[in-house]
Amino acid sequence: MVDKLAQDYSVDSAVMKTYGRAEISFVRGHGCWLESEAGEQYLDCSSGIAVNTLGHTHPQMVSALIEQGKKLWHVSNLYRIPEQENVAKSLARLANLSQVFFCNSGVEATEAAVKIARRSAYERGEPDRTTILCADGAFHGRTLGMLAATDRPIFRRGFGPIPSGFEHSPLGDLSALRAKMGSNIAAIMVEPIQGEGGVRQVSSDFLVGLRNLADEFGALLIADEVQAGIGRSGSFFSYEFSGIQPDIVAVAKGLGGGFPIGAVITSKDVGESMSPGTHGSTFGGNPLAMAVAKVVIDIVSEKTFLKDIVSRASYLEERLVQLYDNNPGKIIEVRGRGFLRGIRLADDFDSSEMVGSLRRAKVLAVPAAENTVRLLPPLIISREEIDFLMDRLKFVMTSD
Ligand code: PLP
Repeated sequence: MVDKLAQDYSVDSAVMKTYGRAEISFVRGHGCWLESEAGEQYLDCSSGIAVNTLGHTHPQMVSALIEQGKKLWHVSNLYRIPEQENVAKSLARLANLSQVFFCNSGVEATEAAVKIARRSAYERGEPDRTTILCADGAFHGRTLGMLAATDRPIFRRGFGPIPSGFEHSPLGDLSALRAKMGSNIAAIMVEPIQGEGGVRQVSSDFLVGLRNLADEFGALLIADEVQAGIGRSGSFFSYEFSGIQPDIVAVAKGLGGGFPIGAVITSKDVGESMSPGTHGSTFGGNPLAMAVAKVVIDIVSEKTFLKDIVSRASYLEERLVQLYDNNPGKIIEVRGRGFLRGIRLADDFDSSEMVGSLRRAKVLAVPAAENTVRLLPPLIISREEIDFLMDRLKFVMTSD
């Protein structure tokens, strides 16, 4: 896929060609809609890849940003930041955990999660407990460390040497995982719904099994909630449906609703293994980011808001199942939960081309692995907007 995207991108620009970009740019956004330079309206079912939780230019987020912008933008983590302490308290409460480290992106959150897991073992007197067990198809980001955790050999090509200390095991297979467990395993790291991996969802039993294996072998459990967290699955964190309690949770993307932010939430014991100087981030948790994150958390964590997501998302699911029933041979499976949905296409159809056709039909979606079209609308999408999406999906499915 990397090579295919690179070939598609022919624009003459000083911007490094690390993305396959569509020939379109947007000038403004409102709610679930984006307006192109040409003045055309697009229904945004990508949310900047799971970022625009509350849509574009949400009035409360805009005022929070403006108000904070007038007071104080940035101050070093060498001082207390009350806005940060408030957001940390909310995140810790929601995750039933205790300590929070702030950074600026998903990969910084997953990388910090791994550092914290290893440091925690080290502080417990187990310095050899360093290996992180990940799932096949996993995506945890693109730093050198997280390339090792991510199960996409093509992303690693030409970037070696890649750090050691990461292993992979088939998603959903507890016996394979058990065979890899031992006194060298610092943590199991899992996405309860693999977004990039093709909207692959694990069962509640599998997550409970991971928790039990981690406990049995003295390892920690890290939930990578960077894509599926912050309400997207219908609960604040996507692991909640299984009832498990991770030791470490990594979040980013949707937490800032468009403002770059990442965070790692840990239990008290694990968090206390980190002392001054062990990790840091210049920008992590600055007042501007915290002002915006506070609005996102306050709105998304409301029980009525989450209930409403579940109700609108089950309407979307119903409509997707109809689409599946009406397109035998084209759609293999409809996947995911809440507003993280995947339409896995049969081999004769190409998900990237389907995403292009949808864009021409004024709907933005994102391709994912396993030939899957990914739908990640803002969590505020209405039933009427879901109807618009389904109308365009139907049109594209029958005309391609
Ligand atoms: N983890 C998961 C599950 C992701 O989906 C992503 C990005 O797609 C990342 C980590 C990396 O996030 P970022 O691109 O913000 O570094």
